[in-house]
Amino acid sequence: MNLIGRVIMAFMPITPKALVRFFSRRYVAGTELHHAIKVMEDMADEKTSFTVDVLGEDITSIEETRRFVTEYQDLIKAISTSNIDAHISLKPTAFGLDIDYDYALSTVSDLAKLASSFDIFVRLDMEDSNHTESTLRMTEDLHKMGHRNTGVVLQGRLFRTMGDLERLSVSLGPDADVRICKGIYLEHPDIAYTGYHDIVRATSAAVSKALDLGMYVGVASHDHPVINSAIKSLDERDFEFPGQDPREPAPTKRKGKGNGYEFQFLLGVRGDVRRRLASEGHLTRVYLPYGEQWYEYSMRRLRENPGVAWHVAKSVLFPWTNRR
Ligand code: FAD
Repeated sequence: MNLIGRVIMAFMPITPKALVRFFSRRYVAGTELHHAIKVMEDMADEKTSFTVDVLGEDITSIEETRRFVTEYQDLIKAISTSNIDAHISLKPTAFGLDIDYDYALSTVSDLAKLASSFDIFVRLDMEDSNHTESTLRMTEDLHKMGHRNTGVVLQGRLFRTMGDLERLSVSLGPDADVRICKGIYLEHPDIAYTGYHDIVRATSAAVSKALDLGMYVGVASHDHPVINSAIKSLDERDFEFPGQDPREPAPTKRKGKGNGYEFQFLLGVRGDVRRRLASEGHLTRVYLPYGEQWYEYSMRRLRENPGVAWHVAKSVLFPWTNRR
Protein backbone atom coordinates (compact mmCIF):
# COMPACT_ATOMS: atom_id res chain seq x y z
CA MET A 1 0.00 0.00 0.00
CA ASN A 2 2.83 2.35 0.76
CA LEU A 3 4.09 1.67 -2.76
CA ILE A 4 0.85 3.03 -4.20
CA GLY A 5 1.15 5.94 -1.78
CA ARG A 6 4.67 6.63 -3.04
CA VAL A 7 3.53 6.54 -6.66
CA ILE A 8 0.76 9.03 -5.83
CA MET A 9 3.33 11.20 -4.05
CA ALA A 10 5.59 11.18 -7.12
CA PHE A 11 2.81 12.91 -9.07
CA MET A 12 1.94 15.42 -6.36
CA PRO A 13 4.41 18.15 -7.43
CA ILE A 14 2.72 18.36 -10.84
CA THR A 15 -0.81 18.12 -9.46
CA PRO A 16 -2.61 21.49 -9.65
CA LYS A 17 -3.10 23.04 -6.21
CA ALA A 18 -6.81 23.46 -6.95
CA LEU A 19 -7.14 19.70 -7.39
CA VAL A 20 -5.30 19.04 -4.13
CA ARG A 21 -7.62 21.56 -2.48
CA PHE A 22 -10.62 19.71 -3.89
CA PHE A 23 -9.53 16.42 -2.28
CA SER A 24 -8.33 17.97 0.98
CA ARG A 25 -11.65 19.84 1.52
CA ARG A 26 -12.97 16.73 3.13
CA TYR A 27 -10.16 16.69 5.73
CA VAL A 28 -9.45 20.39 6.29
CA ALA A 29 -12.27 22.71 7.40
CA GLY A 30 -10.96 25.72 5.42
CA THR A 31 -8.44 28.50 5.64
CA GLU A 32 -10.16 30.80 8.16
CA LEU A 33 -11.59 30.53 11.65
CA HIS A 34 -15.13 31.19 10.42
CA HIS A 35 -14.80 28.16 8.09
CA ALA A 36 -14.01 25.94 11.09
CA ILE A 37 -16.95 27.33 13.08
CA LYS A 38 -19.28 26.81 10.12
CA VAL A 39 -18.22 23.17 9.65
CA MET A 40 -18.79 22.47 13.35
CA GLU A 41 -22.19 24.19 13.29
CA ASP A 42 -23.14 22.21 10.19
CA MET A 43 -22.30 18.99 12.07
CA ALA A 44 -24.49 19.91 15.06
CA ASP A 45 -26.85 16.97 14.52
CA GLU A 46 -23.98 14.43 14.53
CA LYS A 47 -23.84 14.49 18.35
CA THR A 48 -20.07 14.86 18.49
CA SER A 49 -17.58 17.13 20.24
CA PHE A 50 -14.60 18.71 18.49
CA THR A 51 -10.97 19.55 18.97
CA VAL A 52 -9.75 22.31 16.67
CA ASP A 53 -6.22 22.59 15.33
CA VAL A 54 -4.68 25.60 13.57
CA LEU A 55 -2.49 24.14 10.85
CA GLY A 56 1.21 24.81 10.93
CA GLU A 57 4.30 23.72 12.82
CA ASP A 58 8.07 23.66 12.43
CA ILE A 59 8.54 27.40 12.46
CA THR A 60 12.02 28.85 12.12
CA SER A 61 11.76 32.04 14.20
CA ILE A 62 10.00 33.17 17.37
CA GLU A 63 8.42 35.91 15.28
CA GLU A 64 6.41 33.26 13.44
CA THR A 65 4.83 32.02 16.66
CA ARG A 66 2.88 35.28 17.05
CA ARG A 67 0.52 34.36 14.22
CA PHE A 68 -0.40 31.13 15.98
CA VAL A 69 -0.84 32.85 19.33
CA THR A 70 -3.27 35.38 17.83
CA GLU A 71 -5.14 32.73 15.87
CA TYR A 72 -5.53 30.45 18.90
CA GLN A 73 -6.66 33.37 21.07
CA ASP A 74 -9.33 34.20 18.48
CA LEU A 75 -10.27 30.51 18.26
CA ILE A 76 -10.70 30.17 22.03
CA LYS A 77 -12.88 33.29 22.14
CA ALA A 78 -14.95 32.10 19.17
CA ILE A 79 -15.57 28.71 20.81
CA SER A 80 -16.50 30.40 24.07
CA THR A 81 -19.17 32.53 22.43
CA SER A 82 -20.64 29.66 20.40
CA ASN A 83 -22.76 26.73 21.45
CA ILE A 84 -20.16 24.32 20.10
CA ASP A 85 -18.62 21.70 22.39
CA ALA A 86 -15.00 22.08 21.33
CA HIS A 87 -11.54 22.22 22.77
CA ILE A 88 -8.22 22.95 21.09
CA SER A 89 -5.25 20.93 19.93
CA LEU A 90 -1.88 22.53 19.24
CA LYS A 91 1.55 21.52 18.03
CA PRO A 92 4.24 22.68 20.48
CA THR A 93 6.74 23.33 17.66
CA ALA A 94 4.41 26.02 16.29
CA PHE A 95 5.04 27.87 19.56
CA GLY A 96 8.83 27.61 19.38
CA LEU A 97 9.52 24.29 21.12
CA ASP A 98 12.60 23.72 18.95
CA ILE A 99 13.88 27.28 19.33
CA ASP A 100 13.38 28.33 22.94
CA TYR A 101 11.72 25.92 25.38
CA ASP A 102 11.03 28.54 28.07
CA TYR A 103 9.41 30.89 25.58
CA ALA A 104 7.27 28.08 24.15
CA LEU A 105 6.20 26.99 27.63
CA SER A 106 5.24 30.47 28.71
CA THR A 107 3.31 31.07 25.47
CA VAL A 108 1.38 27.81 25.72
CA SER A 109 0.83 28.52 29.43
CA ASP A 110 -0.77 31.89 28.57
CA LEU A 111 -3.06 30.15 26.08
CA ALA A 112 -3.95 27.45 28.61
CA LYS A 113 -4.82 30.19 31.10
CA LEU A 114 -7.05 31.95 28.58
CA ALA A 115 -8.67 28.64 27.62
CA SER A 116 -9.21 27.77 31.27
CA SER A 117 -11.07 31.03 31.84
CA PHE A 118 -13.65 29.69 29.36
CA ASP A 119 -13.40 26.08 30.64
CA ILE A 120 -11.76 24.95 27.41
CA PHE A 121 -9.31 22.06 27.35
CA VAL A 122 -5.91 22.24 25.57
CA ARG A 123 -4.33 19.16 24.01
CA LEU A 124 -0.64 19.10 23.04
CA ASP A 125 -0.41 17.04 19.85
CA MET A 126 2.58 14.72 19.64
CA GLU A 127 5.03 15.24 16.80
CA ASP A 128 7.88 12.97 15.71
CA SER A 129 10.08 11.18 18.24
CA ASN A 130 12.60 14.06 18.34
CA HIS A 131 9.92 15.96 20.24
CA THR A 132 8.52 13.30 22.54
CA GLU A 133 10.67 14.18 25.54
CA SER A 134 10.25 17.96 25.27
CA THR A 135 6.49 17.66 24.71
CA LEU A 136 6.08 15.46 27.79
CA ARG A 137 8.23 17.88 29.75
CA MET A 138 6.00 20.74 28.65
CA THR A 139 2.90 18.77 29.68
CA GLU A 140 4.37 18.19 33.13
CA ASP A 141 5.52 21.80 33.48
CA LEU A 142 2.06 23.08 32.52
CA HIS A 143 0.60 20.83 35.18
CA LYS A 144 3.08 22.11 37.78
CA MET A 145 2.02 25.64 36.80
CA GLY A 146 -1.53 24.70 37.73
CA HIS A 147 -3.03 24.20 34.28
CA ARG A 148 -5.29 21.25 34.89
CA ASN A 149 -7.08 21.80 31.59
CA THR A 150 -4.18 20.34 29.58
CA GLY A 151 -3.27 16.93 28.22
CA VAL A 152 -1.02 15.25 25.71
CA VAL A 153 -0.82 12.51 23.06
CA LEU A 154 1.08 9.22 23.20
CA GLN A 155 1.83 7.11 20.14
CA GLY A 156 1.26 3.35 20.38
CA ARG A 157 4.02 2.59 17.88
CA LEU A 158 6.82 3.93 20.13
CA PHE A 159 8.48 1.42 22.46
CA ARG A 160 8.71 4.06 25.17
CA THR A 161 4.96 4.67 25.40
CA MET A 162 4.17 2.14 28.16
CA GLY A 163 6.89 3.71 30.32
CA ASP A 164 5.60 7.20 29.49
CA LEU A 165 2.13 6.20 30.69
CA GLU A 166 3.60 5.10 34.05
CA ARG A 167 5.55 8.34 34.24
CA LEU A 168 2.52 10.55 33.50
CA SER A 169 0.34 8.69 35.97
CA VAL A 170 2.84 9.68 38.66
CA SER A 171 3.60 13.23 37.50
CA LEU A 172 0.02 14.21 36.60
CA GLY A 173 -1.88 11.96 38.99
CA PRO A 174 -5.64 11.96 38.50
CA ASP A 175 -5.35 14.89 36.08
CA ALA A 176 -3.65 12.70 33.47
CA ASP A 177 -5.54 13.00 30.18
CA VAL A 178 -4.00 11.27 27.17
CA ARG A 179 -4.99 10.81 23.56
CA ILE A 180 -3.64 7.49 22.35
CA CYS A 181 -3.07 6.99 18.63
CA LYS A 182 -0.84 4.77 16.50
CA GLY A 183 1.42 7.71 15.58
CA ILE A 184 1.55 9.16 12.09
CA TYR A 185 5.34 9.54 11.87
CA LEU A 186 7.24 6.55 10.49
CA GLU A 187 9.91 5.95 13.12
CA HIS A 188 13.13 3.93 13.14
CA PRO A 189 12.80 0.22 14.09
CA ASP A 190 15.24 0.82 16.96
CA ILE A 191 12.59 2.85 18.78
CA ALA A 192 9.26 1.83 17.29
CA TYR A 193 7.12 -1.00 16.00
CA THR A 194 6.92 -0.85 12.24
CA GLY A 195 4.57 -3.70 11.31
CA TYR A 196 0.80 -3.19 11.20
CA HIS A 197 -0.11 -5.97 13.68
CA ASP A 198 2.54 -4.93 16.20
CA ILE A 199 1.35 -1.32 16.04
CA VAL A 200 -2.28 -2.34 16.54
CA ARG A 201 -1.32 -4.58 19.47
CA ALA A 202 0.84 -1.91 21.10
CA THR A 203 -1.76 0.83 20.62
CA SER A 204 -4.51 -1.33 22.08
CA ALA A 205 -2.27 -2.28 25.02
CA ALA A 206 -1.55 1.39 25.67
CA VAL A 207 -5.29 2.16 25.77
CA SER A 208 -5.88 -0.64 28.30
CA LYS A 209 -2.96 0.47 30.45
CA ALA A 210 -4.08 4.10 30.47
CA LEU A 211 -7.54 2.98 31.61
CA ASP A 212 -5.96 0.82 34.34
CA LEU A 213 -3.92 3.80 35.50
CA GLY A 214 -7.14 5.79 35.94
CA MET A 215 -6.46 8.26 33.17
CA TYR A 216 -8.93 9.97 30.89
CA VAL A 217 -8.31 8.35 27.51
CA GLY A 218 -9.02 9.64 24.02
CA VAL A 219 -8.92 6.59 21.74
CA ALA A 220 -7.81 8.14 18.43
CA SER A 221 -8.04 5.50 15.74
CA HIS A 222 -10.28 4.68 12.79
CA ASP A 223 -9.04 1.13 12.70
CA HIS A 224 -11.62 -1.50 13.68
CA PRO A 225 -9.21 -3.76 15.64
CA VAL A 226 -8.11 -0.83 17.83
CA ILE A 227 -11.68 0.40 18.35
CA ASN A 228 -12.98 -3.10 19.11
CA SER A 229 -10.12 -3.79 21.51
CA ALA A 230 -10.85 -0.49 23.30
CA ILE A 231 -14.52 -1.42 23.66
CA LYS A 232 -13.53 -4.83 25.02
CA SER A 233 -11.16 -3.18 27.51
CA LEU A 234 -13.89 -0.79 28.63
CA ASP A 235 -16.31 -3.67 28.98
CA GLU A 236 -13.85 -5.74 31.02
CA ARG A 237 -13.31 -2.78 33.32
CA ASP A 238 -17.05 -2.34 33.84
CA PHE A 239 -17.26 1.01 32.16
CA GLU A 240 -20.85 1.68 31.38
CA PHE A 241 -21.64 3.15 27.99
CA PRO A 242 -23.74 5.66 29.71
CA GLY A 243 -24.50 8.03 27.06
CA GLN A 244 -21.36 9.83 28.12
CA ASP A 245 -18.63 9.60 30.66
CA PRO A 246 -18.55 10.11 34.41
CA ARG A 247 -17.38 13.68 34.31
CA GLU A 248 -19.57 16.61 35.21
CA PRO A 249 -20.66 18.79 33.57
CA ALA A 250 -20.09 18.51 29.78
CA PRO A 251 -16.63 17.31 28.74
CA THR A 252 -15.25 20.59 27.47
CA LYS A 253 -16.38 22.29 30.61
CA ARG A 254 -14.69 19.87 32.93
CA LYS A 255 -12.54 21.11 35.76
CA GLY A 256 -11.17 17.81 36.97
CA LYS A 257 -10.80 14.63 34.98
CA GLY A 258 -10.35 11.06 36.08
CA ASN A 259 -11.14 7.69 34.65
CA GLY A 260 -13.15 8.15 31.47
CA TYR A 261 -12.83 7.86 27.72
CA GLU A 262 -13.91 9.08 24.35
CA PHE A 263 -13.35 8.04 20.73
CA GLN A 264 -11.62 10.54 18.48
CA PHE A 265 -11.70 10.74 14.69
CA LEU A 266 -10.11 12.96 12.07
CA LEU A 267 -12.49 15.17 10.12
CA GLY A 268 -13.69 13.34 7.01
CA VAL A 269 -12.51 9.90 8.09
CA ARG A 270 -14.91 7.03 8.83
CA GLY A 271 -17.78 9.23 9.93
CA ASP A 272 -20.08 6.22 9.71
CA VAL A 273 -18.08 4.43 12.43
CA ARG A 274 -18.05 7.57 14.57
CA ARG A 275 -21.82 8.03 14.22
CA ARG A 276 -22.39 4.38 15.10
CA LEU A 277 -20.27 4.72 18.26
CA ALA A 278 -22.19 7.88 19.20
CA SER A 279 -25.50 6.11 18.66
CA GLU A 280 -24.30 3.35 21.02
CA GLY A 281 -23.74 5.96 23.73
CA HIS A 282 -20.00 6.59 23.43
CA LEU A 283 -18.66 10.11 23.54
CA THR A 284 -16.97 11.00 20.24
CA ARG A 285 -14.78 13.89 19.16
CA VAL A 286 -13.73 15.13 15.73
CA TYR A 287 -10.24 16.56 15.18
CA LEU A 288 -10.83 19.52 12.93
CA PRO A 289 -7.85 21.27 11.30
CA TYR A 290 -8.05 24.61 9.52
CA GLY A 291 -5.63 27.30 8.43
CA GLU A 292 -3.87 29.05 5.63
CA GLN A 293 -1.07 26.51 5.66
CA TRP A 294 -3.35 23.64 4.60
CA TYR A 295 -1.32 22.92 1.45
CA GLU A 296 2.11 22.80 3.11
CA TYR A 297 0.65 20.79 5.99
CA SER A 298 -1.04 18.24 3.71
CA MET A 299 2.10 17.83 1.59
CA ARG A 300 4.33 17.35 4.61
CA ARG A 301 2.02 14.71 6.12
CA LEU A 302 1.87 12.87 2.80
CA ARG A 303 5.64 12.95 2.38
CA GLU A 304 6.18 11.71 5.92
CA ASN A 305 3.71 8.89 5.58
CA PRO A 306 2.77 7.92 1.99
CA GLY A 307 0.25 5.49 3.48
CA VAL A 308 -1.99 8.54 4.06
CA ALA A 309 -1.98 9.19 0.28
CA TRP A 310 -3.24 5.66 -0.22
CA HIS A 311 -6.02 6.22 2.36
CA VAL A 312 -7.12 9.36 0.54
CA ALA A 313 -7.02 7.61 -2.86
CA LYS A 314 -8.96 4.69 -1.41
CA SER A 315 -11.67 7.07 -0.17
CA VAL A 316 -12.12 8.31 -3.72
CA LEU A 317 -11.87 4.96 -5.51
CA PHE A 318 -13.71 2.83 -2.93
CA PRO A 319 -15.90 5.31 -1.04
CA TRP A 320 -17.60 2.59 1.00
CA THR A 321 -14.30 2.06 2.90
CA ASN A 322 -14.45 5.55 4.32
CA ARG A 323 -17.75 7.33 4.66
CA ARG A 324 -17.58 10.97 5.55
P1 FAD B 1 -5.24 3.08 9.86
O1 FAD B 1 -5.09 1.61 9.67
O2 FAD B 1 -4.17 3.97 9.33
O3 FAD B 1 -6.61 3.56 9.26
C1 FAD B 1 -7.78 2.78 9.33
C2 FAD B 1 -8.67 3.24 8.20
O4 FAD B 1 -9.11 4.59 8.45
C3 FAD B 1 -7.99 3.28 6.83
O5 FAD B 1 -8.06 2.05 6.17
C4 FAD B 1 -8.74 4.37 6.12
O6 FAD B 1 -9.95 3.87 5.58
C5 FAD B 1 -9.08 5.33 7.23
N1 FAD B 1 -8.09 6.41 7.37
C6 FAD B 1 -7.15 6.53 8.35
N2 FAD B 1 -6.46 7.68 8.21
C7 FAD B 1 -6.96 8.28 7.10
C8 FAD B 1 -6.68 9.51 6.42
N3 FAD B 1 -5.75 10.37 6.86
N4 FAD B 1 -7.41 9.80 5.31
C9 FAD B 1 -8.37 8.96 4.87
N5 FAD B 1 -8.68 7.80 5.46
C10 FAD B 1 -8.00 7.47 6.56
N6 FAD B 1 -0.67 11.08 15.15
C11 FAD B 1 0.41 11.59 15.78
O7 FAD B 1 1.53 11.16 15.53
N7 FAD B 1 0.28 12.62 16.68
C12 FAD B 1 -0.93 13.13 17.03
O8 FAD B 1 -1.01 14.04 17.87
C13 FAD B 1 -2.09 12.58 16.40
N8 FAD B 1 -3.32 13.04 16.70
C14 FAD B 1 -4.42 12.39 16.18
C15 FAD B 1 -5.69 12.80 16.56
C16 FAD B 1 -6.80 12.10 16.13
C17 FAD B 1 -8.16 12.52 16.59
C18 FAD B 1 -6.65 10.98 15.25
C19 FAD B 1 -7.83 10.19 14.80
C20 FAD B 1 -5.39 10.62 14.83
C21 FAD B 1 -4.27 11.32 15.26
N9 FAD B 1 -3.00 10.99 14.84
C22 FAD B 1 -1.90 11.55 15.45
C23 FAD B 1 -2.81 10.08 13.68
C24 FAD B 1 -2.70 8.65 14.10
O9 FAD B 1 -1.51 8.45 14.80
C25 FAD B 1 -2.72 7.70 12.87
O10 FAD B 1 -1.66 8.00 12.04
C26 FAD B 1 -4.00 7.79 12.06
O11 FAD B 1 -5.12 7.89 12.89
C27 FAD B 1 -4.16 6.53 11.19
O12 FAD B 1 -4.19 5.39 11.99
P2 FAD B 1 -5.53 4.59 12.34
O13 FAD B 1 -5.41 4.07 13.71
O14 FAD B 1 -6.72 5.41 12.05
O15 FAD B 1 -5.45 3.29 11.43
